[in-house]
Amino acid sequence: MYVDQASAQELKAQLVDLESQYSDILAAKLNLDLTRGKPSGSQLDLSNGLDGILAGSYKAEGGDDCRNYGGLDGLAEAKALFSQVLGVKPSETLIGGNASLTLMFQSVVFTHLFGARGPGSAWSAEGEIKFLCPVPGYDRHFGICEELGIKMIPVAMDENGPVMDEVEALVKSDPCIKGIWCVPRFSNPSGIVYSDEVVDRIAQLGRIAGANFRVMWDNAYAIHALHDDAPVLANLMDVARQHGTEDSVLIFGSTSKVTFAGAGLAFMGASEENLKHFKKHLGMCTIGPDKVNQLRHVKFFGDYSGLMAHMNKHAELLRPRFDAVLEHLDAGFAESDLGCWTVPEGGYFVSFDARPGLAREIVRLAAEAGVKLTPAGATYPYGKDPEDKNIRLAPSFPSLADINKTMEVFVLCVKLASVRQKLNS
Ligand code: PMP
Repeated sequence: MYVDQASAQELKAQLVDLESQYSDILAAKLNLDLTRGKPSGSQLDLSNGLDGILAGSYKAEGGDDCRNYGGLDGLAEAKALFSQVLGVKPSETLIGGNASLTLMFQSVVFTHLFGARGPGSAWSAEGEIKFLCPVPGYDRHFGICEELGIKMIPVAMDENGPVMDEVEALVKSDPCIKGIWCVPRFSNPSGIVYSDEVVDRIAQLGRIAGANFRVMWDNAYAIHALHDDAPVLANLMDVARQHGTEDSVLIFGSTSKVTFAGAGLAFMGASEENLKHFKKHLGMCTIGPDKVNQLRHVKFFGDYSGLMAHMNKHAELLRPRFDAVLEHLDAGFAESDLGCWTVPEGGYFVSFDARPGLAREIVRLAAEAGVKLTPAGATYPYGKDPEDKNIRLAPSFPSLADINKTMEVFVLCVKLASVRQKLNS
């Protein structure tokens, strides 16, 4: 369906048909949810082996009793394993609690309040602070900035990652810019994997922006490929080391979508100097993390190849769900001017761009029909999508049958909103 080429008469005929299909769906009183990217029950089941795996043996490699206090930056064996996910040395790794979001929030708060290098280096002492936010992006990153009054500047993305000419020009022209949020592999929501050139240019930002600049490298989907031949991401810390900018990067990850989303491990990779400062403040928040859980995770995976074998099982469960979403989008819109979407090779999302001005309306129509979608605008700073066109689809949690029903409704809502808009224009 090409609405721009259809006559008013054709559009009116379409509208009658679409309205009637929509009424049928309203009558079906659905209750479906395609909002947040959380693992399905069967994905969680893959890690049930964690339960009881220690069988009463709580000693860490170093001899410490994991049930006790201490070990602020985590167990050595957990660092050895998960440093490989972060792409840093074990000595540059900190293993925290269950949420990488907490480590990100703490990193920003500590740097804002206390500074990355002690008194005098606090962002808050420099007046207005700004962060670059490649869009569409992850709403909880934007939430951290909003909570702390850090002004967000949206930056466009293309198929290689953030548009670096734009990023560099902004960083050069505005010293208030102290950071950038990045989800570099299977980006949330677009699924983009940053190209080697983009990673190299991001690693150099610290040199342009000065000592207080931080790249918030949230590699949440580092090992979450759907296919064996999915694009590989360059190692940011290695590249930063070549440029002498390793202090400018903070790397994050977690097992939230590897084991249990609510009871996994979060980790952070940073230069030893950065870690030293982070731990000084972290020590005011906690005496130490849940090391029993760290030990369980290490025992469960054994080594990096055990971890990757586990991720293949996730991919097997996720692939049909992504395929279903993409098949509906293809069938609905391949021959149309109603929208475009990304075909991710990993991660948790499909990003759909409707015709400008329609995202809110599509989400509203779907909600009325009993299908919850991520709120329109959520993928932009302050919840404001300037073109009101981006919708994030998250297919991991619902059953395949529910995804199929949800996508039928979604496709219908996009068509209905598009034809109505065209007729009213
Ligand atoms: N970063 C990104 C990009 C995410 O998509 C998510 C979860 N949706 C998180 C972080 C949350 O990670 P965690 O559970 O480790 O806090």
